[in-house]
Amino acid sequence: QPNSPEARDILYHLHAYTNARKHQETGPMIIEKGEGIYVEDSNGKRYIEAMAGLWSVGVGFSEQRLVDAAMRQMSKLPFYHNFGHKGHSPLIDLAEKLVKMAPVPMSKAFFTNSGSEANDTAMKMIWYRSNALGQPQRKKIISRKRGYHGVTIASASLTGLPNNQISFDLPIANVLHTSSPHYWREALPGESEEQFSTRLANELEQMILAEGPETIAAFFGEPVMGAGGVVVPPAGYWEKIQAVLNKYGILLVADEVICGFGRTGEMFGSQTFGMKPDIMVMSKQISSSYLPISALLINDRVFEPLADESNRIGTFGHGFTGGGHPVAAAVALENLNIIEERDLVSNAREVGAHMQKRLRELASHELVGEVRGIGLIAAVELVADKATKAPWGQPGALGGLANGLLQQNGVISRNMGDALAFCPPLIITKEQVDTLVDALKVSLDAAAAQVRG
Ligand code: PLP
Repeated sequence: QPNSPEARDILYHLHAYTNARKHQETGPMIIEKGEGIYVEDSNGKRYIEAMAGLWSVGVGFSEQRLVDAAMRQMSKLPFYHNFGHKGHSPLIDLAEKLVKMAPVPMSKAFFTNSGSEANDTAMKMIWYRSNALGQPQRKKIISRKRGYHGVTIASASLTGLPNNQISFDLPIANVLHTSSPHYWREALPGESEEQFSTRLANELEQMILAEGPETIAAFFGEPVMGAGGVVVPPAGYWEKIQAVLNKYGILLVADEVICGFGRTGEMFGSQTFGMKPDIMVMSKQISSSYLPISALLINDRVFEPLADESNRIGTFGHGFTGGGHPVAAAVALENLNIIEERDLVSNAREVGAHMQKRLRELASHELVGEVRGIGLIAAVELVADKATKAPWGQPGALGGLANGLLQQNGVISRNMGDALAFCPPLIITKEQVDTLVDALKVSLDAAAAQVRG
C-alpha cells in the first residue's frame, strides 16, 4: 500500500547504519510500543528486546517514573544551557551524583548529547590539556582495533572497525590502533590468557617507544568491547595495560558508554576490571536512553590544566546547545535513582550469572565457536567449523541467518558479523532469560539444518 508506514519509510527515511537499496528489499521493522523488556512491532508481534535497544534501555521500555520526571521538568523549565556562568538545577544534581558515584576520585562532570560527542570532547580536552601544559607535541591517542567509540570524525577515528573508517578516509592524524584483546580469536597456539595479555601490553609499550612517549597523550578503551563483538578482556589485561600507561604518564579514558551503570555486574566496568581512568565517558544507560544525554567525568589531572588561567589559552571553548539539557538531566537523575533503589546492579550480577551459565550450555552446539560475556552482556560467536573457526561462506552470513531466525522466534538480538550479541535490560528475570535462551537454541538448530542443508 503506497500510504503505509512501510512504504513511506522507504520513500522518505534514510536509516542509520543501513544500505538503502537493501533496505528497500527487506522493508522496515517498525516498533510501535514497549513494555518492560518487550517491544511490539506494527504487526502486533512481541519480542524480548535482548539488546535493550542499543545496549541502553536499562530500566526497560515502560518506566513511568522517567516519563513523570520528564513531564515535571518540561513544565518547569523546558530548556536552558550551561554556557559561561549560567546553569540549572537538574544538571547540578546530576553532576554531583555522577562525581559521587565514580569508582575513582573524579573532579568534575561535563555534559554532551551522545557517546560520540562525549568521546570527541574527551579528545579535545586532552589536546587542550597538552597545549595548556606547554606540551603541544603530546597529541597522539591510542585506541584499539575492534573498539567502538562513535561515528563523528574524531570518535570514528578512535573506533577500530573498518566499516567506520575506510569509506570516510579515517582515521584522522594522531590516532593509532593497537591490537584487540580477543583471546579466542587472536591468541597464539598454546598461549595462556595471562601470556596473551602480557604480549598485548608489550606491543603497546613498543608502539609508545617507537612513536616517542612524549608524543602520546591518552589511551581509550571500553572495559568490555561492545560493538566490536562483546570482547571481555583476558586475565590480567587491564592491569598490564594500566601499568604501561602509568610508566609513561599517559592518560586512560574508560569508555563506559555500554558498561556504565550496572551492565557488567558492578556500577561501572572500570570497577569490574580494576581500571583507574582519568576520564570516564558515559551515555546510553545514564538515562536508559529515554532522552539523549552523555557525560564525561574528569579527574584533577585533567581538570586542573583546563582551569588554569595562566595557561595562555584562557577559555575551554567547547560546548553544545543541548549538552546537559534539563529534561534529559532530570530523566537521567531519576533513572540513576531507580537503578540504585531497585539495586539493578545486583540483578545484573545475579541474573547475569544465570544468563552466562545458560548461554554456555550452548557451547557444545555444532555452530557455536565461543560463548563469552560478563554480567548482562554476552555474545555467542557462530562458526561453520569449530576446529578451524571458519565462517559459513562470507563472514557474517551465519550471524545474519541466526539473527533472522531468532527474531522470528520472538527475540531481538544483533549480529556483529557472526557474533550474536545479548545485552538485555537490567530488569530482566531468570525466567525471561530462560525463554530467551530456549528461543536461541531452537533458532540455532534451525540454522544448523540450513547450513547442513
Ligand atoms: N562508545 C561506545 C562504547 C558505544 O557503544 C557507542 C555506541 O554504541 C558510542 C561510544 C557512541 O555513542 P552514540 O551512538 O551515542 O554516539
